[in-house]
Amino acid sequence: MNTVAISRGSSGTGLFPRSSWSPGKKDASRMHEFGIAYDIYATARKAALERGAKDVKEVHVEFGEMAMVSPEQVSFLYEALVEDDSLMKGSHLSWSVVPPQTRCSCGYEGSERFVCPQCGRFPELIKGREVIVTHMEVEVDDE
Ligand SMILES: [Zn+2]
Repeated sequence: MNTVAISRGSSGTGLFPRSSWSPGKKDASRMHEFGIAYDIYATARKAALERGAKDVKEVHVEFGEMAMVSPEQVSFLYEALVEDDSLMKGSHLSWSVVPPQTRCSCGYEGSERFVCPQCGRFPELIKGREVIVTHMEVEVDDE
């Protein structure tokens, strides 16, 4: 068994110039959307590879209404990300927005987020914050 030591070297501290990185609130939210776009890209790529895809045409994503992200923004970032990936290049992100689903301790289940229509209490959000890759369209060699 070989043990390989990976060293980042000791000569520089300039890999991540901290002084130039000071996100404001707007930047922070953009980074959030970039993270989501990257997750979608990584998830779709893995699934495509597992199925032996030669080309990826379309990736469909469900955005929970409470995920607090802009699907347009995520789609834009996604399409920029796949530009550098020969497998994913040219794939298109399509999406749907799904309403939140809530449940109350009285037994109510539905989409009322703030006031339970049966008892007036605050219902619990059980679905609606997720961003999920639901399906995708890929091309495979038929053999
Ligand atoms: Zn209730």
